Amino acid sequence: MSAYIDPHIHMVSRTTDDYKRMALAGCCLISEPAFWAGFDRSGPEGFRDYFRQLTQYEGKRARAYGIEHKTWLCINAKEAENVALAREVIKLIPEFLDQPDVLGIGEIGLNKNTTNEATVFLEHLDLAAKTDELILVHTPHLADKYQGTRMIIDMLKGDHRITPGRVCIDHVEEHTIRHALDAGHWCGMTLYPISKCTPARAVDMIEMYGPERIMVNSAGDWGHSDPLAVPEFIFEMRQRGHAEALIKQVVFDNPLMFFSQCPRFNYVPRSVGSEAGGT
Ligand SMILES: [Zn+2]
Repeated sequence: MSAYIDPHIHMVSRTTDDYKRMALAGCCLISEPAFWAGFDRSGPEGFRDYFRQLTQYEGKRARAYGIEHKTWLCINAKEAENVALAREVIKLIPEFLDQPDVLGIGEIGLNKNTTNEATVFLEHLDLAAKTDELILVHTPHLADKYQGTRMIIDMLKGDHRITPGRVCIDHVEEHTIRHALDAGHWCGMTLYPISKCTPARAVDMIEMYGPERIMVNSAGDWGHSDPLAVPEFIFEMRQRGHAEALIKQVVFDNPLMFFSQCPRFNYVPRSVGSEAGGT
């Protein structure tokens, strides 16, 4: 069993049984971006409660299973079509930015690549720049992914206050990974049963692009998804004979390096060197 990090999973939608299975599989740290609830919240107060849940309560649930929990705050692109609501929510975020388990602003991004979504994305970037926060970016699904990723990278380039290495572009696939890496960003590959990427395709991309600035995640949520997707990736890497050090770099060292750019991030692996990469 290798110690691993799942850098993108929505645990408020999962059971404690999932925490236990993840702990048994070697999960030691997760990060939970703010997400759409599956329905539109009725107003900004719904977000305040969600942010309280993410920053003050979910961590206790995770730590009960020996898993460290970090989180990100934003209004998700799915709800950003309502610009007035989005602005109210963005105003709430600074109240929570000094909470010790917050890593930054995310997962912001685009869903259908609309003008309103772009407006709200830019306003999140402005907040992140002013507060010097890390950024986690959701890229759209399927047919909208290529254009949306290009739009996102252009908007990031357009704000000179943003350091590319402090941004992770998530849900990359074969046709978008090169654009994100070339722009200097980190990348997340999402292993998701019904869309996005499979473990085999993720390993193919590591073989093609190498391990630098790439991580893998489950993006487990309230829908059909697999909280043990990162161990599936580890299994596929081993099946192909990849070295344990390479596997550890992708599933442990890389997310740790990305998160360590947040000054609040204080995670210390329990036994450095021996915990990760062992069998
Ligand atoms: Zn997500």
